[in-house]
Amino acid sequence: MSEKNNQPIFVLSEDALRNSGRAAQKNNIAAAKIVAETVRTTLGPKGMDKMLVDSINEVIVTNDGVTILEEMQIEHPAAKMIVEVAKTQEDEIGDGTTTAVVFAGELLKQAESLLEKNIHPTIIARGYRQAADKAQFVLNVIAEKALPEDQDLIKKIAMTAMTGKGAESSKEVLSNLVVKAAACVFDGGLDRKSIRIEKKIGDSVEESELINGIVLDKEKVHPSMPDSISEAKIALIDTSLEVKDTEMDAKISITDPSQMQDFLDMEEKMIRRMTDKVIKSGANVVLCQKGIDDLAQHYLAKEGIYACRRVKKSDMEALSKATSANIITNLNDLTQKDLGIAGAVEQVKVNDEEMTYVRDCENPKSVTILVRGGTEHVIAEVKRALEDAIGDVSAALKNHKVVAGAGSVEVELAKEIRKFAESLSGREQLAVKAFAEALDVIPTTLAENAGLDPIDVLTGLKAAHDDGRKWAGIDVFSGKVIDAWECGIVEPLKIKTQAISSATEVAVMILRIDDVIAAGKPSQPEGMPPMGGMPHGMGM
Ligand code: ADP
Ligand code: MG
Repeated sequence: MSEKNNQPIFVLSEDALRNSGRAAQKNNIAAAKIVAETVRTTLGPKGMDKMLVDSINEVIVTNDGVTILEEMQIEHPAAKMIVEVAKTQEDEIGDGTTTAVVFAGELLKQAESLLEKNIHPTIIARGYRQAADKAQFVLNVIAEKALPEDQDLIKKIAMTAMTGKGAESSKEVLSNLVVKAAACVFDGGLDRKSIRIEKKIGDSVEESELINGIVLDKEKVHPSMPDSISEAKIALIDTSLEVKDTEMDAKISITDPSQMQDFLDMEEKMIRRMTDKVIKSGANVVLCQKGIDDLAQHYLAKEGIYACRRVKKSDMEALSKATSANIITNLNDLTQKDLGIAGAVEQVKVNDEEMTYVRDCENPKSVTILVRGGTEHVIAEVKRALEDAIGDVSAALKNHKVVAGAGSVEVELAKEIRKFAESLSGREQLAVKAFAEALDVIPTTLAENAGLDPIDVLTGLKAAHDDGRKWAGIDVFSGKVIDAWECGIVEPLKIKTQAISSATEVAVMILRIDDVIAAGKPSQPEGMPPMGGMPHGMGM
């Protein structure tokens, strides 16, 4: 088409939305900053909680970064990228989600002022990457050693993770449970999933207990089965103890009553054969992933066998780890060798509901912390805090390195990165310096959330670090500078390395976007954020 007739050229579909150049950058940065601002007030021991109400009016009260962001159902594309940072942190460690998001937001905020000074995004990106590399290096140098047998240290890690959470008041009891649980399942490393958390309303959080095995939200299938079995020999069966419906529709035509009886007899025989196989193996507990026929229940009960049906797959796997039983898919394969061992299997009434405890396992590779508490909301938040603690302990036992918290590690890093910036020249130096400034957001926010003057706190911390006190952190109660390591505020190194690398990656990625093109939707659902504006409901 020629220029002359001034016809517009449509490359995109008519209802596609486009936002380019500085406007796109500004918009993305603004959205990312809003996400960071939202979780910022929850950071640290004095952080506040958020109440989230979902579309069916379910309420969650939480302090946990990733939970907040997931529940917010964010729509803006750049904001979603920030949420991903929290999710990665959650998947990799479990803790440090707020830190990662707040840092990512601050990196972008710092970048914004560099952009205003006409520094090109690629230069900022390069500076940030260099600074992040330097940060990783410094972190590894300053980290302290964490030995698996140092239970004292492991307890400190668990306590730090739970400080300021719903679990705060019982963190002593809960940390002891985490330490014990970790010691039970540790085998050179610690798989987070091997410590399961089961919730049950009732009693107080202090009554939470560690079960050397697995707790199932199941009761025995037949009332005349025993309530408890000691020296349990457990068969884990992943096939139904029923005469199953055939896969295909089958029709059996019965022409006279005797045939009907034959048919029933036959069915009974099949069930009998199945249960005999179980009984012959020597099992006195049967945990079945599928159904158990009434008749089979009767036969098993007659033998004094304890049985549960429809046990969840994940529970079966945990049971296998805890008792060393093999999960059997074909009853013909079941032998004594496949049975798992537990000191006891018993049905316990917890707050009016029956549960099955598989306890006193020898050398279990999976254990359970049963969380108690007054209300569903309390227990759910305690569970989230426990997950953070378990994640932290597991991360610390993975690479055996820990750092001190309370802002100390961030101030130390910022100091080293500022030094590093001096060795660079030109505009990159500004970007590297901005990265160091961004690190300050962690101690600043800890101070702000505690109602302290952030500038005083930061000045005090910087002076202490200049004096060579690498673990100088902030006491959020008095505002004084403390030695965070001496005070037992300890976190795994991995929290920091992961937070820095994912925050840097996402900040760089967002900075490099100069064009947002959204394909027109066939019919736009209500509540879609207009490009170029703020997403609905997210203004601060
Ligand atoms: P995140 O989701 O990032 O883990 P948290 O709300 O758990 O957020 O806060 C973690 C921050 O709180 C870390 O910087 C940690 O060092 C700091 N922190 C934890 N315990 C203390 C304490 N007793 N005093 C000061 N800071 C603490
Ligand atoms: Mg935390």
